[in-house]
Amino acid sequence: MAKRDYYEVLGVSKNSSDADIKKAYRKLAKKYHPDANPNNKEAEEKFKEATEAYEVLSDGQKRQTYDQFGHSAFDGSGGFSGGGNFSGMDMGDIFESFFGGSGFGGSFSDIFGGSSRRNGPVRGADLQYNLTIDFEEAVFGCSKEISFQADDKCDNCNGSGAKPGSSVDTCPTCGGSGQERITQKTIFGSMASVIDCRTCHGKGKIIKEPCPVCRGRGIVRKNKTITVDIPKGINQGQSIRKAGMGAPGERGGANGDLLIAINVRPHKTFVRQNNDIYVEVPISIVQATLGDEIKIPTIDGEEIYTLKAGTQPETVITLKNRGVFNVRNPKVRGDQIVKFKVIIPTKITEAQKELLMQFAGTSGNTPNPKKENLFDKMKKHFE
Ligand SMILES: [Zn+2]
Ligand SMILES: [Zn+2]
Repeated sequence: MAKRDYYEVLGVSKNSSDADIKKAYRKLAKKYHPDANPNNKEAEEKFKEATEAYEVLSDGQKRQTYDQFGHSAFDGSGGFSGGGNFSGMDMGDIFESFFGGSGFGGSFSDIFGGSSRRNGPVRGADLQYNLTIDFEEAVFGCSKEISFQADDKCDNCNGSGAKPGSSVDTCPTCGGSGQERITQKTIFGSMASVIDCRTCHGKGKIIKEPCPVCRGRGIVRKNKTITVDIPKGINQGQSIRKAGMGAPGERGGANGDLLIAINVRPHKTFVRQNNDIYVEVPISIVQATLGDEIKIPTIDGEEIYTLKAGTQPETVITLKNRGVFNVRNPKVRGDQIVKFKVIIPTKITEAQKELLMQFAGTSGNTPNPKKENLFDKMKKHFE
């Protein structure tokens, strides 16, 4: 829907004075204020529209910009960037600045959001527990006992906050609603507003004798120990949700959930990527050249593998279905990816050297390891 012209909204002419604009807005605000029109969407819209128009036209600089660029100056898409982003402004903020923040607290945002929600049930917060497990525990699954401290309903008063046997009275100020209507003198005259009841702090009840265990909060901090079943295949960064084990809800609201965030310790041999496992297996130059029967570590134990003669460095093979179980479907497994690392010896005996020289000779390519290079010559010079 196209936005109406701000002057049209307030019913004033383009060259009307600040005083005229204020007068026009005051009239509209009184007429359409949500308190005077409960559950009237149309009035609420009109009220917001008028407030938005007033916010712009009552500010000399904003009004000038609006006259020049129209609505595009304020929706963030036009050529105007210096005046702040009006569309992102909360109506509560606007009213705060309008009344100089006096006395109204946050009550306006509640008017726009529907004040009935204020006293309804509130779901408890979710809690997170960080659990570190071993690589194998993640691969094969495990059962872990965890202990932590968390808020919970006070058992002594069953969450009421009142000493057992003592009476809980309905708040005489708000009659149990937890809300209070106050009348505020403003530039528009008297305006009514709904705030949290100041007598009972929005609870609707007055506790005469608070529960000595929770001191009237109805909530206590408890040590909890629970057992968590960790499914096989779980991976770093995944979490397990324990419904209803988080912070307690308020006013009959559901408890939050407990989220157990999994951190997996790295393994000295295996590296996991998704459900595949990567492993490097060292082989000697002789094994690489002649082939061998070798043992390859897998998460199921050592596996015998026949290494082909002439295996090149960095050769990669795949052992099918030797990876990690799919956490959602344990019948499906990843693979193990093996990379062969050919180890070149750094220290050899004279006899070994002789044999290698013989080998080189038979392959028609005799190296001359005694030949000094520039570096060796310089080394000698300083010795
Ligand atoms: Zn009250
Ligand atoms: Zn208690």
